[in-house]
Amino acid sequence: MSLGKQIRFRNTLAFRLTLWYAGIFTVSSCVAFLLFYTLITSFFRERTDQELLSQVNRFSTLLAAEGVGAIQTTAVIEAQAAGVKKVFFRFLSLSGQAFSSSNMSYWKDIGIHGIAIKELLRGRSHVFETIAIPDRKEKVRILYAMLSPSIILQVGEAMESYSRFLDGFKRIFIITMTLLIFVAAGIGWFMARRAVSGVEAVTRTAQRISAGTLEDRVPVKIQGDEIDQLATTFNQMLDRIQTLLTEIKEMSENLAHDLRSPITRIRGIAEVTLTNGKSLSEYESMAANTIEECDRLLDMINTMLMISKTESGADKLSREEIDLAGLVRQACDLFEPSAEDKGVTLGCNVPVRSLLVGDSRMIQRMLSNLLDNAIKYTPSGGTVTVSVSEDDTQVIISVKDTGCGISPSDLPRVFERFYRSDQSRSQSGIGLGLSLARAIARAHGGEITATSAPNQGSNFTVTLPKSAKK
Ligand code: ADP
Repeated sequence: MSLGKQIRFRNTLAFRLTLWYAGIFTVSSCVAFLLFYTLITSFFRERTDQELLSQVNRFSTLLAAEGVGAIQTTAVIEAQAAGVKKVFFRFLSLSGQAFSSSNMSYWKDIGIHGIAIKELLRGRSHVFETIAIPDRKEKVRILYAMLSPSIILQVGEAMESYSRFLDGFKRIFIITMTLLIFVAAGIGWFMARRAVSGVEAVTRTAQRISAGTLEDRVPVKIQGDEIDQLATTFNQMLDRIQTLLTEIKEMSENLAHDLRSPITRIRGIAEVTLTNGKSLSEYESMAANTIEECDRLLDMINTMLMISKTESGADKLSREEIDLAGLVRQACDLFEPSAEDKGVTLGCNVPVRSLLVGDSRMIQRMLSNLLDNAIKYTPSGGTVTVSVSEDDTQVIISVKDTGCGISPSDLPRVFERFYRSDQSRSQSGIGLGLSLARAIARAHGGEITATSAPNQGSNFTVTLPKSAKK
């Protein structure tokens, strides 16, 4: 593996998780071993100490009953019986001088500890010590105890079998631990790989997407774990991006189409005038037409900008207290002449006052769009009724007409930018009025909905909260 690959491998989450797993496993096993080892050691020492103390008891009873000779003989026999390499007895005077002992040929390196004698003379009943015999692996546990006011017993017992047991225990532990650390690292690696495989799938999909295929999705398993949640959220985000991109694509196509028509018209008029126009009035008419078409274009571009700003919140709404009933009455007055021209009856059902906090300029614009549409799409003889009602929290505006209506297939799309139903193509319009109305309603924390039936009429309902959106 090259150095770069090694560094990358060491930085992977799977490697670090494995390392942590194996590390924690090793540390906790070592702690468990140390605890166990300490427990066993102290248990063995306790047992040896009990044995040594029981020897002291036996010898002091024997001394009291049968005298010094008896304990000297018994010491020799006892040591012989237990094994001269296993145990020894030595009788000392108060000055620490040995005056009798069992066979000490094996124990000749073991001296008499002055401090222990002093401790006994100071009044302690017994003193323990553990010493290691040079050149031998084993340790010896030694007990000094007063047998009588003038005799001290030094008794020692080899801890060889215990040492052998503990050595064996250590060896087995080290071998088992080494094996287990490898197994733990293997299991840790397997588990870490399983855990990060989901993340890798998300990464692979993200890489494919950055290479240009937005259709790809991360496979979601059925476990419902964190990785699945990540994959689902990632897929949802992709769905959303795809929808947005499709909308942007459609919108730019519509925009290009809607820009092309007036520009083609302007160009056509200019060309015809240049080719055929002889009089000043023909040039004047061309200029007037050009201005009209340019106004239309400007109107469209300004409306587009306004929708974008309102939706993004860049165009901050003013938050003033406004009388919506008054605004609706003004709008009805404004549209009355055009309704009359078309032979449409315009009704206005509004309370005396209806207060809410919002941007009056924007709300006026929204009302104008709804009223303009209602009159535009209602044939002569029809009726348009605007009404305002309210409850504790919101004000409801309804613009109802008896016009051509909207087909069920068009209804869900009328609020999209540039969407115009086929039957409305004969009417003037750019397909942005309802998009702006919806952006304004939402910017106020409200909503706009439409119900309609073809040839029966439509009803647009706007709900606005009385207190402005923060
Ligand atoms: P436009 O400039 O075409 O009126 P809008 O965004 O205001 O654009 O409306 C989008 C489409 O919704 C219209 O083209 C029309 O098909 C339909 N529409 C809107 N209002 C009405 C209505 N009151 N009656 C029937 N159709 C309507």
